[in-house]
Amino acid sequence: MPQAPNYKAELVGVFGHPVAENPTIVLQEAAFRALDLNWRYLTIEVYPQDLADAVRGLRAFNMQGINLTIPHKVAVLEHLDAIADDASLIGAVNTVRRDGDKLIGENTDGKGFLRSLREDARLDPSGKRVVVLGAGGAARAITVELALAGASELTVVNRSPERGTTLVDLLNEKTATSARFVSWKDTYAVPDATDVLVNATSIGLFPNVTEKPDIDYDTIRSNMTVCDVIPNPPHTPFLQEAEARGATTLDGLGMLVYQGAIGFKLWTGRDAPVEVMRRALAEAFGL
Ligand code: NDP
Repeated sequence: MPQAPNYKAELVGVFGHPVAENPTIVLQEAAFRALDLNWRYLTIEVYPQDLADAVRGLRAFNMQGINLTIPHKVAVLEHLDAIADDASLIGAVNTVRRDGDKLIGENTDGKGFLRSLREDARLDPSGKRVVVLGAGGAARAITVELALAGASELTVVNRSPERGTTLVDLLNEKTATSARFVSWKDTYAVPDATDVLVNATSIGLFPNVTEKPDIDYDTIRSNMTVCDVIPNPPHTPFLQEAEARGATTLDGLGMLVYQGAIGFKLWTGRDAPVEVMRRALAEAFGL
């Protein structure tokens, strides 16, 4: 029997402000094309005072889900029907999926980092001692997922003590890891007993491409895995210094691709074509 035509695309996207430079459309649209899915990813400017209306619009348009970026990742919590346990610990949602008529909040940033660590750097974080520079949104997501994945020690190094201690208290109270805070006043020396070092600050992000975190780079050892969350440009001065000391390095492009791949699976139920997404993003970044 001939099939009835279906001209309706399924809709997902991102709410943010400013949002024009958010690159997620590039990897999601590439994935939809590769799997021949009639889905569209919309990059939508939503001002802070309009978030509640935007979420109502998401429901009214029967959209399949949405990503949240600055400044909506925390504010969206009160507009959702349920929050995944890890997103609730992180205190922020970057992906909303639909379950029937319910909107469920998830956080794929830390999971994306973990998948990149496992698949690109071939490192299982269980039992590992990790130092994280930064205590903002990315650092919260990464440290919570590392703790849930069994990292034994987490050191949070941050300029503002309030953010740093709040994160460390959360990790110690709600997870089985042992976390401590180091105030970042002077050049930071990485302890010898470190397996993984992560830059989760915004230092080095385009257009400030020559900046690097203030650490003593000679304390990086060749047996460490050194990771950066900065996706653009991915080959940061921080990673170049680590490479020069023989460390294994992991750039922020993988984290960005995998957080999108996890979102793609939550929305479509299909495994994401990760290499297609990675190539599309690299091309968009002119790599
Ligand atoms: P936030 O603004 O929440 O946090 C920024 C962090 O960087 C804070 O810990 C801040 O310290 C620290 N910081 C900024 N400038 C300096 C400085 N000059 N010296 C010392 N510390 C500094 O940002 P996010 O956590 O949301 O984002 C951080 C980075 O992560 C961004 O570059 C973003 O692009 C990247 N990211 C990458 C993702 C990926 O998929 N690859 C996903 C999500 C984010 P303080 O608390 O003292 O202000």
